[in-house]
Amino acid sequence: MGMSEKKNPSPSKFETLEVSNFLRQIIDADLASGKHANRLDQAGKPLPSVITRFPPEPNGYLHIGHAKSICLNFGLARDYGHAPNGARCNMRFDDTNPSKEETEYVDSIIDAVRWLGFDWVENGVEHQHYASDYFDQLYAFAEKLIEAGKAYIDSQSADEIHKNRGTFTQLGANSPFRNRSPEENLNLFRDMKAGKYPDGAHVLRLKIDMAHPNIVMRDPVIYRIRHAHHHRTGDKWCIYPLYDFTHCISDALENITHSICTLEFENNRPLYDWVLEALKDVGVFKGPLPKQYEFARLNLTYAITSKRKLLQLVEEKRVDGWDDPRLPTIVGIRRRGFTPESLRLFCERIGVSKADSWIDMSVLEQALRDDLDARAERAFAVLKPLKLIIDNFDPTVEEPCSAPKHPHHEDWGRREFTLTKELWIEADDFMIEPIKGFFRLYPPKDGQPGSRVRLRHGFVIECTGYDADANGEVIAVHANYFADSKSGTPESNNYKVKGNLHWVSAKNAIKAEIRIYDRLFTDPHPDSGDKNFLDAINPNSKQVLTAYLEPSLGNVKAEQRFQFERHGYFVADRVDHTSAKPVFNMCVGLKDTWK
Ligand code: ATP
Ligand code: MG
Repeated sequence: MGMSEKKNPSPSKFETLEVSNFLRQIIDADLASGKHANRLDQAGKPLPSVITRFPPEPNGYLHIGHAKSICLNFGLARDYGHAPNGARCNMRFDDTNPSKEETEYVDSIIDAVRWLGFDWVENGVEHQHYASDYFDQLYAFAEKLIEAGKAYIDSQSADEIHKNRGTFTQLGANSPFRNRSPEENLNLFRDMKAGKYPDGAHVLRLKIDMAHPNIVMRDPVIYRIRHAHHHRTGDKWCIYPLYDFTHCISDALENITHSICTLEFENNRPLYDWVLEALKDVGVFKGPLPKQYEFARLNLTYAITSKRKLLQLVEEKRVDGWDDPRLPTIVGIRRRGFTPESLRLFCERIGVSKADSWIDMSVLEQALRDDLDARAERAFAVLKPLKLIIDNFDPTVEEPCSAPKHPHHEDWGRREFTLTKELWIEADDFMIEPIKGFFRLYPPKDGQPGSRVRLRHGFVIECTGYDADANGEVIAVHANYFADSKSGTPESNNYKVKGNLHWVSAKNAIKAEIRIYDRLFTDPHPDSGDKNFLDAINPNSKQVLTAYLEPSLGNVKAEQRFQFERHGYFVADRVDHTSAKPVFNMCVGLKDTWK
């Protein structure tokens, strides 16, 4: 980490707030009853009494919604370290779908979770798992269910299966193949595995109840034929297990205690339990079995978190790649300048509940401000430069000035810069005709002198005039300075001014590219109802400026963050920034001014 950010003291103060929630209450009750206290793994070693997992499907980049799930699952493991035999969270790739998954995504997911500050090492053992590691077991368990008469091969077409499943108002109809004998099913299943059939010829279904009120329970398909290459198992398999079968079994094999997922899986919970109970009945698992608990997913205003829509934005080049700083992907948020601490703080603040709700983007932005305010060094940056000429200043003089790196941490030291005859100031800090309440620079008028302002950490100046080009554009402002007004000297108190401007010396300022980002959408709910989210894209969400920075920023490393005084928080771009060609991104403004 760069020296511009101090690790301490502030972020930790937020992270100790362990707000209770319904999941903690469940875990507390399980700890009190000792439900998972005396479990041993296959090697006879005691198992932690809390084991959660984060189970992404490696088919896209993670986004802010996943950050909520990561902070929840890994956060519980961190906070329940005191439980008997500790706690842990497994990293599990849910990679059962052969055509969509790619190693690139696996790597990016690992990076994102690590960057958020979590790991999956317990006593030197890495708990990084892949559902595909369980393909042999999943297959063997499926055979056991077939033998027990709890699963059958259906040879209806996909359309027929769909039609015969029924609807909310209409019961399903039994398949004509439902009563095949276990022997026949077993032979067919083995032939499916051996590659004797084309895709879609048969499926394996659980034999539950086609009249079940919950459609999920109407003989769900658990295996299908897919002659497809898998990113880890290659061409070993041509049949692949489906999510509902795989997930609960993966949980049980990993001794998960609390399997936490989003609310859309609520209807799948009875199936989760059914599969594990059935496998318990046939002697595969013994209790206590893992239990599924659902929480409300994160919905963030002005953002979309659908993987499909994010992909569309990237593929149609409406943004500059997966890590575009306007995207809510974790790589995008990181490039924007968010810290892992600010994301964890955000996740703590939004909490976990069972009720769906929307979180306003401003909550995310405020978490970053609260994190960076305490630990980002301050600096001067002039984003829209206008020349200021101090006519009574000796052109050969470079007056040394200095300012604290952080107003509340004198111990962090000071930044040094010089004041010279020609400076850059913000174009917005000058007005020919000042509006009411404008206390910055304006020229003399009607016998009244021009305004007086302080150049922060420098001198008080008085505006004497300005130069304009043929179009009336102001190209330079003129002023005189008061030699006895320097900040930090006793005489400086004789000057009372209302304006206080930042500035940089034109002689030694650093030229930099600054990227100012605004929200990607103009609509807080860009994809609700039948809206097309592309219609709500904010055409002004990215602005590129050429700015001038104070010379102390000459050696900044990528990802160092600063508060540019009076502007907001900025980060040296992770990808494009170099000392030779500085590039900074605006992370967030100083105040919530978004309307
Ligand atoms: P897909 O539609 O491809 O399944 P997904 O967003 O569910 O997309 P997964 O990779 O399956 O992606 O998600 C991994 C975990 O993150 C799951 O446990 C999922 O419930 C959780 N998750 C996904 N989106 C959110 C969200 N918006 N808020 C909270 N958790 C989420
Ligand atoms: Mg999912």
